Amino acid sequence: MSLIKSIVISGATHGNEKTGVELVRKWQSYPEIFEKVCPSANVQLVLANPLAMRLNRRYVDQDLNRSFSENSLSIQGGSLCYEINRAKELNEMFGKKGECTKTDLLIDVHNTTSNMGACLILSEKNPFTTMASAEIVKEFPETRIYFQPEERLASPYFGTIAKADICLEVGPQAHGTLLASLFELTEKIVLRYLELVEDYNKGLFEKREAKLVEVFTQWKDLDYPRDASGNICAMIHPDRQGADFKELKEGDKIFKTFDGQDILYHGETVFPVFVNEAAYYEKKIAMSLTKRTMENW
Ligand SMILES: [Zn+2]
Repeated sequence: MSLIKSIVISGATHGNEKTGVELVRKWQSYPEIFEKVCPSANVQLVLANPLAMRLNRRYVDQDLNRSFSENSLSIQGGSLCYEINRAKELNEMFGKKGECTKTDLLIDVHNTTSNMGACLILSEKNPFTTMASAEIVKEFPETRIYFQPEERLASPYFGTIAKADICLEVGPQAHGTLLASLFELTEKIVLRYLELVEDYNKGLFEKREAKLVEVFTQWKDLDYPRDASGNICAMIHPDRQGADFKELKEGDKIFKTFDGQDILYHGETVFPVFVNEAAYYEKKIAMSLTKRTMENW
């Protein structure tokens, strides 16, 4: 990858995830900070879904962060769906999606109700995002790397309109609320990424030794148990609540039915994330199962 000259930092891709909302607003009032931290790149800020933000909702008509596939962006003319139009607007401003995109790096700030700490989600392994994320996990004990490989053009995520992206998922935090500790952690991590861009642009990464890091790679999503009508008929088991990134193995309790029965997990050992994420009930995801590896990044 060539130098990183243009960076977009986004909040409010989901309107009720307030860390990104307030962090972007804070930085909008003193953008000079970016000239100090990362003078070699142009940093732009964006509140991606301003209407949902005002309504304190995740989205208005459909999830904005599922609206950036090449197919969705190529819908001709105006749509009745707010997010389809907004995604096209953002793509004009910061894309267009593809090799000639204006944006080298997009850092998208999210919150989750799951106990994920500060999770660094990478959609592909490129020289900057892997090495910088390896530095960050060594420096911040609250961080973990979640690799969620995406076919870039088909991917619906906002970050994929840039050449490279990092999605920060910080929690647990109830949507529509703020936690000072998580706000400050997120701020430090984003600024650290920008300092690392500076190092990268100076060629310092070429001399860097690879670091051994723990990588959680997306395997598959797991839905709640459902009855014949399609309604959920069990909850996350108390043993599993808050146990993101913890081992789940054959025979472990995973769900609890409304009449108190334990449901056990059957299958190979995995490491669940996004356990009991509030916004994923509608997506039929009780948790995402990942596999853990140690990799040299
Ligand atoms: Zn989000």
